[in-house]
Amino acid sequence: MERDYLLRSLNPAQREVVSAPRGNMIIVAGAGTGKTRVLVSRVSWLLQVEGVPARSILAVTFTNKAAQEMRLRIGALAGEGALRALWCSTFHSVCVRLLFAYATQAGLRPNFTIIDTDDGKGIVKAILRDLREQGGQGFSTAAIEQLKPQDALHAISKAKSQRQRAADCAATWGRDERSRLAARVYREYERRCEEQNLVDFDELLLRTVELLERNEAVRDLQHHRFQEILVDEFQDTSALQYDFLRLMAGPGAHVSVVGDDDQSIYTWRGADYTNMRRFMADFPAVSQHKLDENYRSTQNILDVANALIKGNTERLMEKVLHGTQGEGSPVSVLSNYTAQAEGINVARIIAGRHQKGEPYGSFCILYRLNHLSLALEQQLSAAGIPYQIYGGLKFFEREEIKNALAYLQLALNPADNVALLRIINVPSRKIGPAVVAQLYQVAEERGCSLMDAIDALIEYAGASPDAPDAVRKLARRCSAFKALVDRLRGLAAGEDLLAMLDCAIDESGLHDYYRQKDEKDRKGMGDNLRAANLDELRGHAGRFVAEQSALGEAPTLADFLATTSLQSGTEMAENGAVDTDTSKVQMMTIHAAKGLEFPSVILAGCERTILPHVRFGMGLSPRDEEEERRLAYVAVTRAQQRLIISYAQARVLYGKTVTTGKSPFLLEVERALGGSGHLPYRYL
Ligand code: ATP
Ligand code: MG
Repeated sequence: MERDYLLRSLNPAQREVVSAPRGNMIIVAGAGTGKTRVLVSRVSWLLQVEGVPARSILAVTFTNKAAQEMRLRIGALAGEGALRALWCSTFHSVCVRLLFAYATQAGLRPNFTIIDTDDGKGIVKAILRDLREQGGQGFSTAAIEQLKPQDALHAISKAKSQRQRAADCAATWGRDERSRLAARVYREYERRCEEQNLVDFDELLLRTVELLERNEAVRDLQHHRFQEILVDEFQDTSALQYDFLRLMAGPGAHVSVVGDDDQSIYTWRGADYTNMRRFMADFPAVSQHKLDENYRSTQNILDVANALIKGNTERLMEKVLHGTQGEGSPVSVLSNYTAQAEGINVARIIAGRHQKGEPYGSFCILYRLNHLSLALEQQLSAAGIPYQIYGGLKFFEREEIKNALAYLQLALNPADNVALLRIINVPSRKIGPAVVAQLYQVAEERGCSLMDAIDALIEYAGASPDAPDAVRKLARRCSAFKALVDRLRGLAAGEDLLAMLDCAIDESGLHDYYRQKDEKDRKGMGDNLRAANLDELRGHAGRFVAEQSALGEAPTLADFLATTSLQSGTEMAENGAVDTDTSKVQMMTIHAAKGLEFPSVILAGCERTILPHVRFGMGLSPRDEEEERRLAYVAVTRAQQRLIISYAQARVLYGKTVTTGKSPFLLEVERALGGSGHLPYRYL
């Protein structure tokens, strides 16, 4: 009965995979062929037919949105009970869970803070500034000034993804001054993170891999627990993620991976689709499966996708997408003079279809670069069309949100100087740079964190009647801040998350501060409701508490902060919502659209130098070009019934008007399809 129920909605090839005997398997198949559907059904099959305990299953995917979608589908198929016990999340979340559980073994204190790229950049900036102030320490002022913090951070991130620690890089990064300086920055970055108990995104993975590798007991526990490991979007795993999988899978475990090498779009971030080949070699007795039929798109759309991806030579295998949805309406090409005209035309098309009954939410506008959304937004607004942007404004990266969260971070991890510096004077407590410099001095003398320095100062000033005036003054300045943090620490001890947020937002004065700022700014330019965002953060916390309670888990502060740090901006609407709002046009970059589908897709800015994206003054290597073609392929294959490819003849890019025109990819498709005498194509 359960068997039939699980297999009923699958085709024979999909059924074969879902009901295959337990073992290692790989499914390589094109877009929209049901890979994710098969993976979810397989989880249910393992639970219900094979009797695998839910807690022995680990399902991993790339984005929070995909993980949430997967959990929903598993919940619907296998029930809430199973959903509670199994692990279904992103690589990063799995690592956070393991690091929380085995912090000491991983060399961390259990209250570690997860920092984002922006925080990382702040640390690098401080390192460079300190170096300069200390006379360069053997490095020239010119070299220090020329090293951009983001470049140094990028080098650190890349090194970590290749499993190189600072000590390794000191030897391998070259002897020229710039490389030596970068290695020095890495060493100091590592030291500061260690001291302040901070963990960046790459570190989450690297630490976990090192933990599993070095600690046999921890590794054995995982091997004992996880019998089945399943991975979606496997083409986008990095070497480090691959190592993680190998270490998590014990001799008795089975690993199932699904992916499409044609959709690998994260090689710039260390993804390596040849992991698919490695998987077949490294894991024993891997059964290989293919899925051919596409259930997502009409044949006209698939013809364009097939013609496009044919241009790539570096493919693991040739896959031609066959549709099941009929021919459908022709793909349209929209030619515009300018980006502004593109916006106007796109708005006109959407308004027209909306009048005929198509809901706004069935449209998705995709673009290669974030800033291309602007011209489109303006015209949608002008036409009164509601839209929602994913990843444009990153909720958890907004200043007001980061500040509110910094109060919580500091309460949890008082060693976190980054969090302290964010908020010690926001709102103003008259603790300016001079006071901070004094605090630094105390911290340095005592070898402690800034928060400890404040505690010590205030204690000393209170207990010693003969303390110097300067010390008393300093202590007085910091006392209100300390009282606030102490109160937060008290609430943190009781794990009262919502009360903590109220304290961090209201008692801190943050809400008033931003409300006044909003009012001032609104006179100048439209809405800028930072205070409302703070309220939305409370809403978020409320939902988190409710969800955790529903799962039977305690809503801890540490978990809450981990989820907020792991919500990457690309997956979220402006107001922090992860759900898709069906009453609004969806807008996002192609990268953010991976795995998703929409009835109507408009690919905007399909132009020379934009798609493929050629960075100013740089050429395009054949490898880059293939990745860009894969991106275009991902964009095109998101469409279910209608695809519009749009380009402008010219647009303003980085402040200059440039002639762009039709993307070479579009020309390739026209050439390929035009030759057959059948154009599934029309010009609008
Ligand atoms: P992508 O490569 O973009 O991640 P995918 O291979 O994971 O795509 P799915 O998202 O699982 O594909 O499936 C694409 C669409 O086709 C979904 O709407 C899914 O529900 C539907 N689908 C898949 N298999 C079938 C089937 N056998 N019958 C009906 N619909 C199906
Ligand atoms: Mg998928």
